[in-house]
Amino acid sequence: MIAIGIDIGGTKIAIGLVDETGTVLAQQSLKTDPAKTPSQLIEETAQAVNGLLEQQNIAPADVKGIGVGAPGPLDAKNGRLDSPPNLPSWHGFGVVDELRKHFGAWPIHFQNDATAATLAEKWLGAAQEADNFIFITVSTGIGAGIYMHGRLITGASGNAGDVGFIMVEPGAAGTEGYWEQIASGTAIARQASELLGRPVGTKEAFDLAADGDAQMRELIDVTYKRLGMGCVSLINTLDPELLVIGGGVSQIGEPLFDAIRGYVSQHALSPSGRRTAIVPAALSQNAGLIGAASLVHQAY
Ligand code: ADP
Repeated sequence: MIAIGIDIGGTKIAIGLVDETGTVLAQQSLKTDPAKTPSQLIEETAQAVNGLLEQQNIAPADVKGIGVGAPGPLDAKNGRLDSPPNLPSWHGFGVVDELRKHFGAWPIHFQNDATAATLAEKWLGAAQEADNFIFITVSTGIGAGIYMHGRLITGASGNAGDVGFIMVEPGAAGTEGYWEQIASGTAIARQASELLGRPVGTKEAFDLAADGDAQMRELIDVTYKRLGMGCVSLINTLDPELLVIGGGVSQIGEPLFDAIRGYVSQHALSPSGRRTAIVPAALSQNAGLIGAASLVHQAY
């Protein structure tokens, strides 16, 4: 059976056909053009789905369902986006109702994109052996998904794990000190640019630090500490056996993982918390699509 995966993002909608092994058989992407209404874009998405099914010779009876991952905050119960910062014209838009106009027959699953990515890491990625883990994405913002007691935790409205707004450092950086405002890729670039008085990208800030720039070294060290602080809060709250960390910033690799492990090993409350395994996400390519499809193929 085939799952139709739809990953709605701030810049593009990725659409794909994913089989039961997690293989993406065919895919297409549409720009999330702000000049188009959400209904228009869903209509184009439906056309793309039909085109892919035709191209792959897949009959309707071979489709198990549609999985949609979307940025939070959202209302998963009612299939609506709520107020995702990067999709202002979609606020309050009923994605599932709109999709039903095009596809009445198949079940439609709708979840936060980080929650969907969490299920994908359990299905095919770094958390296959874990029954209690948290997936954290450090990217443009910071998000997470929670998998506990062998189940995905989605919360009352589908926003469980939207951890970008846990408080890490009150008063830091002239803001309220929310996690993603001081430790996301966006936050690193903003602070690096302020310090050096010119535009500096996230990767460049890391590179300058590695080359010995003292200001960037200090910024990156404090960022690692702030990433560690957020991880400690999650470990102390939820008692996971494993943290899986993905997102663009995690591509820095071992220095970031070593620093977070070091912080956690000193500051988590319980002895088992201090030993929490912390590993990179395994799915990077097509993670959004496979996450969306996992909502169809995997029980949660
Ligand atoms: P999105 O937030 O759209 O899902 P990503 O997960 O790719 O996108 O995250 C984008 C963020 O990650 C940006 O702040 C970008 O600068 C940063 N980033 C991307 N690649 C790297 C890298 N190799 N090293 C450090 N930061 C990176």
